[in-house]
Amino acid sequence: MERTLAILKPDCTSRKLSGKVIDKIENAGFKIIAMRLVKLTDETAGKFYAVHRERPFYGELVEFMTSANVIPIALEKDNAVADFRKLIGATNPAEAEAGTIRKEFAESIQNNTVHGSDSVENAKIEIGFFFSGRELV
Ligand code: ATP
Ligand code: MG
Repeated sequence: MERTLAILKPDCTSRKLSGKVIDKIENAGFKIIAMRLVKLTDETAGKFYAVHRERPFYGELVEFMTSANVIPIALEKDNAVADFRKLIGATNPAEAEAGTIRKEFAESIQNNTVHGSDSVENAKIEIGFFFSGRELV
């Protein structure tokens, strides 16, 4: 079994879409291993997206990710990382396939409803960012 990290982003929680998005995630065969409701700070959001520090959208991304509560969720499934990226769809909802979460719910390339880890290695790091080993048993 593989694990991945999802984050329901501020546009998801503030529009009260969390239940609908979690329903889609569970219906796609993912098991929820751990879940929290958190308000990111500039420091934690900046650290989480540090890989994008040099990108022109970094400042606005941190502002967006700290604008409301987010819901990190550790998920488990065979092939979880790739299957979850497929379920959420392309970064830009205009390019996301029909039936994907971003196609259905995302507002823009920035306000795209949900995060998904992009590799098994990053999934381990990102799950560790939000959950302790004891919470993940
Ligand atoms: P995520 O890492 O959140 O799952 P992703 O892997 O599809 O998304 P990344 O390239 O890692 O896309 O970008 C991280 C996030 O930064 C995007 O999900 C989006 O919120 C924001 N973002 C990416 N590209 C742009 C852009 N061109 N303009 C504004 N925001 C962007
Ligand atoms: Mg990414």
